[in-house]
Amino acid sequence: MRIPAVFADKKPVLSFEIFPPKKAAALENIDKTLALLCELTPDFISITFGAGGSTVDNQTVELAKKIKNEYGVEPLVHLTCLNYNREEIRVILDQLKKAGLSNILALRGDVNPDIAPQCDFSYASDLVRFIKEQGDFSVSGACYPEKHLEASDAVTDIHNLRKKVDAGVEHLVSQLFFDNDRFFTFYEKTRIAGINVPIEAGIMPVTNKAQIERMVSLCGATLPAKFERILERYENNREALFDAGMAYAINQIVDLIAGGADGIHVYTMNNPVIAKRICDGIKNLI
Ligand code: FAD
Repeated sequence: MRIPAVFADKKPVLSFEIFPPKKAAALENIDKTLALLCELTPDFISITFGAGGSTVDNQTVELAKKIKNEYGVEPLVHLTCLNYNREEIRVILDQLKKAGLSNILALRGDVNPDIAPQCDFSYASDLVRFIKEQGDFSVSGACYPEKHLEASDAVTDIHNLRKKVDAGVEHLVSQLFFDNDRFFTFYEKTRIAGINVPIEAGIMPVTNKAQIERMVSLCGATLPAKFERILERYENNREALFDAGMAYAINQIVDLIAGGADGIHVYTMNNPVIAKRICDGIKNLI
């Protein structure tokens, strides 16, 4: 299945993001999580990829194979390029081809001050072009409703996004955000800029104040006042924060769907309880 084609048949699309377990051995124990997530019938599941260094870590590919072959759900394989050379990326693409995995989320990866980047790929769009040369893959990309942290301004970032789409990206997944108006404004600007591929809204349900503060410092998402009130009031009450965080995420999703969003991408953090609660809250909307 080609993920971009799903958007032609269905709106809104629902997808989940998971990450490979930290230890190789834990891959065997991930079945319980996958079984519960797949019961919720997402249109696809994306699997993150470590930004890496000199060695190529294929945990992502192994997990993608498992999702496709054992659970019958289409995987979207994340692939970062900043710390890899062409040959290393070619090896991964060959693994994907052999496994029949044709959907890739092409990413640059974050700059790691401890790892000198390789020189073959400077931007995700370089990786997109390379993937397209290597085989018949469908390529997705990342986008940033509140601009990428390194971009000087939103207009420049959207011009750069257009270059990525022109290079062959057929579907975009957004960075997490908590203020829907920022997403709607961004979406409108992409259309003005001639970007016409489907854009999924990235939603991270909050369960823990420290986790959100860390995420926000990494990606620069704005915290609306009503969201900050929830964090302040319930930071020391785990159960209450869970309820409030789920309610906030469900409200966000209802508003996004009502506003015509192409799809919703839930950052599940490998927690099927979160995914189930969200799905129960929107079951008649999807
Ligand atoms: P790019 O699209 O290359 O953009 C990076 C910066 O360069 C932007 O500021 C952009 O404006 C600028 N730029 C782009 N093209 C040009 C150009 N031609 N000329 C000048 N400037 C340009 N990281 C991981 O390590 N593993 C993951 O699995 C992962 N998954 C992610 C999933 C999603 C949905 C998102 C939103 C992010 C994910 N990331 C992941 C983080 C991502 O790697 C970082 O945000 C990274 O800093 C940028 O990646 P990108 O692909 O968006 O980069």
